[in-house]
Amino acid sequence: MSSPAAPAPVHGACLCGAVRFRVELPTLFCAHCHCSMCRRNHGAAFVTWFGIAREGLQITAGADALRRYRSSPHGERSFCGHCGSSLFCESERQPDHVDVVLASLDGPIDRAPSAHFYFDSRADWTDVRDDLPRLGGASGVTPLGGPDAEIRPGVWVGHVALGAPDPPAAVDFFASLGMRVIERRPEFGLLELRGGTHLALFPAAALASDTAAPFDLMVDDLDATHARFVAAGLEPSAIQTNPFHRIFMLSAPSGHVLTVQSSHASGRPV
Ligand SMILES: [Zn+2]
Ligand SMILES: [Zn+2]
Repeated sequence: MSSPAAPAPVHGACLCGAVRFRVELPTLFCAHCHCSMCRRNHGAAFVTWFGIAREGLQITAGADALRRYRSSPHGERSFCGHCGSSLFCESERQPDHVDVVLASLDGPIDRAPSAHFYFDSRADWTDVRDDLPRLGGASGVTPLGGPDAEIRPGVWVGHVALGAPDPPAAVDFFASLGMRVIERRPEFGLLELRGGTHLALFPAAALASDTAAPFDLMVDDLDATHARFVAAGLEPSAIQTNPFHRIFMLSAPSGHVLTVQSSHASGRPV
């Protein structure tokens, strides 16, 4: 009788290689921790940890090089005494498991990060745009309310269609603006925009010039984008200020005139 093969163990090490270890899957969890101790200890915006049963972690070399630091009344962090790499965190509150720094491993584990812990303690320059749950509070793992709890809106514009006399030429033009090319065929083009919107290009007769495009474009930095377009030979108009926004115009090979403006999203994740 054969039983399913156990997943292969994953090996890890510190930066200098003095401390080497092996973890036996399955892991217990995997998450990003934004707490101030993790940030300071690693010199990083946040640290990605996974949990493993204590018996699933074997130190295979350099156990004598491991140093321990009591970072809280109930927790200890271990690091390499030669290179300083942080490797493990243990808590007396959960004596049967060890947290391991995911970045110290040589290969993948059995799950992706699934949450942000201590999200309300994050560095204010941290820009998180994923859809993972944002947890915090005193425990670090309580669901948050208010703006901290928000993830991106759940719907967005799927496809925008545009006619162009020469779809491949139009694809090249829109790619030069910063869109990602998905398809470029004689009779069809497809590009991808931030947020996941697709721009579909179909053959159509040339338009009277100065036809306004049925959509406008937002960019992070209008001045930098204008300078980039000038450098690329795209001939944008001068930057002007209308009653609401600073904008410039750009003629597309389809005959459309595109308005480009700085992002004025809410400042929350989109
Ligand atoms: Zn080391
Ligand atoms: Zn932490």
